[in-house]
Amino acid sequence: MRKIAIIGGGQAGMPVAFGLLDKGYDVSLYTNRTPEQIRAGRVMSSQCMFANALDVERRLGINLWEHECPPVEGIGFALPNPEQPDTKAIDWSGRLDRIAQATDQRIKMPIWLEEFARRGGSVIFEDVGVAELERISQEHELTILAAGKGEVVRLFERDATRSPYASPQRALALTYVHGLEPTPNYSRVSFNFIPGVGEYFVFPSLTLSGPCDIMVFEGVPNGPLDRFRDAQSPQDHFERSISFLEEFLPWEADRARHCELTDNQGYLAGSFAPTVRKPVLTLPSGNKVLGMGDAVVVNDPITGQGSNNAAKCAQVYLDQILARGAQRFDQAWMEATFEKYWDYASQVVSWTNSMLAAPTPQALALLTGAAQHPKLAHFLANAFDDPTVLYPAWDNVAEAEKLIQSTTKVFATA
Ligand SMILES: Cc1cc2nc3c(=O)[nH]c(=O)nc-3n(C[C@H](O)[C@H](O)[C@H](O)COP(=O)(O)OP(=O)(O)OC[C@H]3O[C@@H](n4cnc5c(N)ncnc54)[C@H](O)[C@@H]3O)c2cc1C
Repeated sequence: MRKIAIIGGGQAGMPVAFGLLDKGYDVSLYTNRTPEQIRAGRVMSSQCMFANALDVERRLGINLWEHECPPVEGIGFALPNPEQPDTKAIDWSGRLDRIAQATDQRIKMPIWLEEFARRGGSVIFEDVGVAELERISQEHELTILAAGKGEVVRLFERDATRSPYASPQRALALTYVHGLEPTPNYSRVSFNFIPGVGEYFVFPSLTLSGPCDIMVFEGVPNGPLDRFRDAQSPQDHFERSISFLEEFLPWEADRARHCELTDNQGYLAGSFAPTVRKPVLTLPSGNKVLGMGDAVVVNDPITGQGSNNAAKCAQVYLDQILARGAQRFDQAWMEATFEKYWDYASQVVSWTNSMLAAPTPQALALLTGAAQHPKLAHFLANAFDDPTVLYPAWDNVAEAEKLIQSTTKVFATA
């Protein structure tokens, strides 16, 4: 039985742990928070996961909230009219072919940890640093570090060629609420882009106190949406959320008239630089550690891809470990495994990073074109499930035009 260690009980590490356990591997999962600490702690993410990522959980039998978690059925996009900010210059929505879902990680991770132990995995609660990595890597044939944004991941070297930003591009905030008015016709992620100020998106989720909505704020640093850093209390954070909507997005403020914070831990504020790191860490002893998930590819949440990437990374790593059979997990294999994931993730990173900058002509053509062409809106909505379909159009004006033409034609004959 091959001995594998996974460090980090999050969206990337846990599915690999479950998958290997299921195939008879001896899996030890090291993580630094107990189920009780996670349940009683602050929200960590907005974690909207699209169908392909949810399929990873379905295949492993860990899709435990499928029937309970409210569906996200589409994507909406709005841009306020600069001449008349209480109206929209662009407004479209498209239905997802298969629903997305966002289960609060405070629900999901504790139950996954308990379920993993129930299925026979070993869970060790330990804050892992270099000394622990040395010990763990000595005792296992493969050590995977999936510690998200934990300090320990800084041990992986930043890959400057794949990381265009050296500092945070947005001041982030989350506000979990009950009582938000639903969108008409179908539920959706409602994106609002306010050039120069930032972005706001909101969608249904499941939290500890039942169905809710998650508000995500992405403020351009030092601008009017960078307003959460010094909030004095949960209620203060909530009030700053609502006052922003009243000031900049009246249609979203209307939906929020009767809402309240889900709980005193249902909010978050912070920032980080989108970063790609080199995937293999060499410890002082010479032992190697393979990075995965946010530990090595951390995106700004603007496109809602982090949990999706984590699940997809888990599938790639799981398949590669199983395909390795009894051979050694050497550095070449580790690098090849990461590159296999990077084949997919590179375009997600590129798309996400582009959304943090001024829109390119092709992005504008696509985003404005979708308001005229429902098939294009449908295409762009479903691209959240697999952003690679946006390429080459997202990078190239002529390709974007071709895509617009093709969806227009399909629409004309549909
Ligand atoms: C504001 C915000 C909004 C987001 N919204 C979305 C969204 O809508 N859709 C989406 O797909 N993604 C979203 N994400 C991103 C998503 O949450 C992450 O990408 C995803 O959780 C990454 O999974 P991971 O397993 O790599 O890391 P995590 O889920 O963070 O897990 C890391 C694990 O490692 C453990 N750990 C950390 N340090 C140590 C240590 N030293 N020793 C032992 N254990 C350790 C932690 O306790 C945790 O269990 C959002 C993120 C943020 C910040």
